[in-house]
Amino acid sequence: MIDTHCHLEQPNYDNDRDEVIEQCKRNLDAVITSCAHPKDFDLTMKLVKDYPGFVFAAMSIHPVYIKRVSEQEKEDYVKIIKKNRGRIVAIGETGTDYWWIKENEWREKQRKLFIEMINLADELNLPLVIHSRNAPESTKALEDTITILEKYDVDRVQMHMYSSRRQLQRVLNNGWMISVNTLLLRSKGLTKIVRDTPLERLMLETDAPWLAIDEEGAIKKLDEERNMPTAVKLVAQKIAKIKKLPLEQVDKATTENAKRFFNI
Ligand SMILES: [Zn+2]
Repeated sequence: MIDTHCHLEQPNYDNDRDEVIEQCKRNLDAVITSCAHPKDFDLTMKLVKDYPGFVFAAMSIHPVYIKRVSEQEKEDYVKIIKKNRGRIVAIGETGTDYWWIKENEWREKQRKLFIEMINLADELNLPLVIHSRNAPESTKALEDTITILEKYDVDRVQMHMYSSRRQLQRVLNNGWMISVNTLLLRSKGLTKIVRDTPLERLMLETDAPWLAIDEEGAIKKLDEERNMPTAVKLVAQKIAKIKKLPLEQVDKATTENAKRFFNI
């Protein structure tokens, strides 16, 4: 199994990061860690170098950090990403987040940054990892994200933490991949998305350290408990149950999908 989306650079792993990764190595085939802020570049790259063939990196600026990264920081970051192209497997997570970012002016800046990241992925011939979170009052964030991806004709796309049934057919028609995490364990909407998505389009993720779950499958707050990349097993088990398939088949297919998608 492969955790296609987690954040190993987060401070929740500072005390025992190597033990956590060793534990992952005993249970998983690989992890893709998503570097979401320029300040995390060095630590992320250190992990890639320390665990060759096991820890892989996706690089971008998370849309929620739009107010916290200066133009100069972004330019330096893009330069260093280009220089390290051989050690990076994707550009992301990138996209829109209208849940946390409310002002039109900043949402516009998110879209501008998103387009820059699309162009960067195109230039470096890397796939894109998409984060898109709607504000409570509308579905505009996802609509904007999909429309921009279509406009730029992007075909290698991972819809991370995807949750919209309404746009599912459009996403699938575009040939994009969907990744699901522990939110699936209690969500009827996500259950239907998994049911309606061909196995060839699904990948496993955790978004760890976020989204740890308790025994009933309820999501815990990050300050209560950190999640681990090994939780992809729970996600795979649930997919197997929903699709009435053996776990081994879900394991094999989602692992192959991830290997193909990230070219690892
Ligand atoms: Zn993430």
